[in-house]
Amino acid sequence: MSSLTNLRWTLNGPKIIPNLGVTRYGNASHNGAVLYQGPSMIQPGVEIVVIVTGLRNASSNTKTGPLLQTHILPVEEIPTQAIVSGLDSAVCGGCTHRRRWDAELQRWVRTCYVNIGKAQNAVWKAFHNGSYPEIDWDAYNTLATGMFGRMGTWGDPASVPIEVWDNFVKPLSGWTGYTHQSANPRLREVLRYCQVSADSLGDAQASSKAGLGSFRVLGSNSPKQQDWETLCPASEEAGKTVQCHECLMCDGKSGNNIVIGAHGIGGGHAQESKRRPLTFA
Ligand code: SF4
Repeated sequence: MSSLTNLRWTLNGPKIIPNLGVTRYGNASHNGAVLYQGPSMIQPGVEIVVIVTGLRNASSNTKTGPLLQTHILPVEEIPTQAIVSGLDSAVCGGCTHRRRWDAELQRWVRTCYVNIGKAQNAVWKAFHNGSYPEIDWDAYNTLATGMFGRMGTWGDPASVPIEVWDNFVKPLSGWTGYTHQSANPRLREVLRYCQVSADSLGDAQASSKAGLGSFRVLGSNSPKQQDWETLCPASEEAGKTVQCHECLMCDGKSGNNIVIGAHGIGGGHAQESKRRPLTFA
């Protein structure tokens, strides 16, 4: 990708985007950049964009520590609207934590822990205001050397071409990533960088048997931690002894099967999935 263009590839071919005001990624005022804009790998008819933030000021939260964040967003709708219209399926696939009608409760519930009304809505607006230049991978390699990253702060990394993640992780000292798309063999390439998001003990068992790392969130009716599973050390239950950038067990490579209590904005509704467990041929 060139850093000097205001042409972007879209589903309808190249289009001219509004002048960014600057033409080179590396301007000291830029804290973010566009890593990818194009079709979703989950739903190829929908255009998505991936924005990395934290390049100048690494954002931090108490659990993860300072990580580059990557926001995977549908281009056409602001995230809070996309979760209502269903366009979020292009970046989240059939994830069980998406907004859904609960017949028992007779209301809509969403168990995703990401509060998209804050960061992701702001990033989506900034993207449409032309605030993020296209990534210059050479500049990125210099700037991000030794940093840590998070794949899919919101959105599933499997919705993005794997080459984007190959480039993203190249200069990093470590990363974390999770995918809910492991049921689809076509989308499993991303497991080279991601944990299997396990929605049940059966999912975690299948992952462990296949030598894959997993991440299981314990809902109110979930079986307890098994002896072959590892409690996330950044969890409340473990006393928050480390942050993700110090731990890095969730990088898809360590093979650890992690468990954590339900957390985040929708955590109270988390339940053990009743669907058939994943299978890995
Ligand atoms: S196991 Fe480690 S990398 Fe994974 S969420 Fe917990 S602290 Fe972060």
